[in-house]
Amino acid sequence: MTSAWPVTATLAVALLARTASAQTMDFDKIQIITDQLAPNLYTLSGSSGVDPSHDDAAGGRIGVLIGADGILMVDAQYAQLTDKVVAAIRRISAAPIRFLVNTHIHRDHTAGNANFARMGAMIFAREELRDGMVRIAKSPNAAANPLSDPAGFPVVTYGMGPPVIIHFDGETVDLIPVRAAHTGGDTMIRFENANVIMIGDFYRNYGYPFIDLNNGGSLDGMLQALDQTMKLAGPDTTLVPGHGSIIKRDAIVPYRDMIAGVAARVRELVAQGKSLQEVLAAKVTAPYDAQVHGGLDPAGVGAGTSADRFVTEVYEEIKAAR
Ligand SMILES: [Zn+2]
Repeated sequence: MTSAWPVTATLAVALLARTASAQTMDFDKIQIITDQLAPNLYTLSGSSGVDPSHDDAAGGRIGVLIGADGILMVDAQYAQLTDKVVAAIRRISAAPIRFLVNTHIHRDHTAGNANFARMGAMIFAREELRDGMVRIAKSPNAAANPLSDPAGFPVVTYGMGPPVIIHFDGETVDLIPVRAAHTGGDTMIRFENANVIMIGDFYRNYGYPFIDLNNGGSLDGMLQALDQTMKLAGPDTTLVPGHGSIIKRDAIVPYRDMIAGVAARVRELVAQGKSLQEVLAAKVTAPYDAQVHGGLDPAGVGAGTSADRFVTEVYEEIKAAR
C-alpha cells in the first residue's frame, strides 16, 4: 500500500501482522450477535475469542436501520462474514438493503462492501476512503487485498463539508465527516431520532487508540474528533464505537485526557532526543494500563502490544512535526 506518511518498521510489522491475522482467522467460528438500540435500529457484532486483532468481538460493529423504505447499513464487516451478516439482517427485516455507509477504510469495516453492492446497496463514504481503495487496487499486491474490488468502491462520496443527510425510514441520518483521526477518511453516522451516533474507530475501549498513519490518520485529528463528539452528543446520546463496549459522552473525557497525557509525555521525551526504542522502554502508558481493557494485548498476531503501537504512532507524528 503506497502512502505519503512515514511508516516505521514496527508499524509495518504491525500492519503485516494485521493482514496475516485476517487471513488466518477461522471465520467459521464467528457468530453474529444482534443488539437492538432503538425500535428500528440494531447493531451486529462478531463473537469474541476468534479475531486476533479484536479479541473482544470479531471484526467491526455493523449498524442496521430498518423500516418501510428499506435497510441502511453502517459498515460491512469482513467479506467472509457476509452470508452470516445477511442471515442476521434477515432475522429482523426482509426489506432490500439500499444504503451502506462506511465509517472508515479498514477491511474489518469495508471488505464486505462488494458483496452488499452486488445485492443492490448504494455505498456512501468519504472521498479519501474511496481514494484509498483506488490506490490499493493499483498496488502490486492488489489481488490479495479484498478492498481492491471496484464493486466495493463507494459510489457517493463527500469531503470535509457539511453532513450528508439521508431521510429514510422516518429517521434523519447524518453522515458527519471527521478530520483525519483514526484514518484520513472517517465518518460519524448520527441517527437523530434514535439519539445514537456510530463513531467508528477513533474512540475505542478495547486496546489503546489506533492512529493509522499509513491511511492518513493523525493525533491532532483524533483529539479534534473527540471534541466534535463531545459537542454533537448530549449526555444521554448512545455512542457506538466500531469495537468495544457502547458508551455515553462522559466516557470521552478520560479517553481524551489519556491520549493528551501520553502525547505530552512523548513530546517531552522527543524534545530530549530520545529514540523510539527509548520512548517505548519508558512505558509512558503505565498510568493508564489498568484502565485500558486489552491495552497490553498484542495488536495482532506477532505484533507488539496495542500500547506500543499507539506510542509508536504518537512518536512518529510528533517527530515528523518537529
Ligand atoms: Zn479501524
